[in-house]
Amino acid sequence: MRLPSRLARRGLAIGIDIGGTKVAAGVVNSEGVILAEEIRDTPGHDPREVERVIVSLVQALSAEHRVLSVGIGAAGWMDRSGSTVLFSPHLAWRNEPVRTNLEKLLHRRVTLANDADAAAWGEFRFGAGVGQDRLVCITLGTGIGGAIMIDGRLERGNWGVAGEFGHQVIVPQGHRCECGNRGCWEQYASGNALGREARELARANSPVAQEWLRAVGGQTEQITGAVVTALARQGDTASISLLEDVGEWLGLGLANLAAALDPGMFVIGGGLSEAGRLLLDPARSAFNRNLTGRGFRPAAPIELAALGPKAGLIGAADLSRAAAWR
Ligand SMILES: [Zn+2]
Repeated sequence: MRLPSRLARRGLAIGIDIGGTKVAAGVVNSEGVILAEEIRDTPGHDPREVERVIVSLVQALSAEHRVLSVGIGAAGWMDRSGSTVLFSPHLAWRNEPVRTNLEKLLHRRVTLANDADAAAWGEFRFGAGVGQDRLVCITLGTGIGGAIMIDGRLERGNWGVAGEFGHQVIVPQGHRCECGNRGCWEQYASGNALGREARELARANSPVAQEWLRAVGGQTEQITGAVVTALARQGDTASISLLEDVGEWLGLGLANLAAALDPGMFVIGGGLSEAGRLLLDPARSAFNRNLTGRGFRPAAPIELAALGPKAGLIGAADLSRAAAWR
């Protein structure tokens, strides 16, 4: 399956982003442009079923395009060789030799990556991180995903678990996290945290909850981070103030990461990043207040991701192209 390098560099690749509910696949060219796209539902219960969905997506997309390699991004931990998925939260993959299985079925080179790594690679190659090879990328959604790039290379640690920034404990004995600990960063600086705070205020019959309740027809449980973000963008002061809280937690956690990793830039993506400046302004000021060595070092810029929800798909495709020409 070795490819002549120039062909691989110029050729088309398929990127597949496996999310909790949808599998998105696209044909991506060497400029990071998506030429065709297909979406299916994520089958969670059976590893063979996930393989069948991937095969059917690749077949559908390669009918019209000559595709040289396939890159897959999924939440979870891979072994260092990138061939075995050790654990994936949305899928039934447990110590599953996904790469070997798929290469046999697809007759193409397959590259596996953590979804946050795939998105970071996309931003590094074609998005907000172009030209910056020491990057930390943060994805703010239901939880917090993280990726570390050092000297233009993704770093996943010794056991594939690096970048799990969402589980740094930021409030001892704080909110319970599904990982089993308390006070994890993602319980304070994610879209879920935003929704939880709003629901708490609504349950307490706080007058500030009026707009949220109106937006969801009075159904408190339907107040989500996305609802609050949308209202904040329309100028609702209670929503803006909750986003400020979340932004401050974000900035504090980023200052911790700067103390450990000293990146040249932070790139912030994921659903919650749609709040834009309403989130990033308070994050930047909390970051500057808490930065180790402040006054004696430049503060790394904190920028919004540029590729939006397609970053993972584009990055996974490009990673497979990069692996093919190695
Ligand atoms: Zn946790």
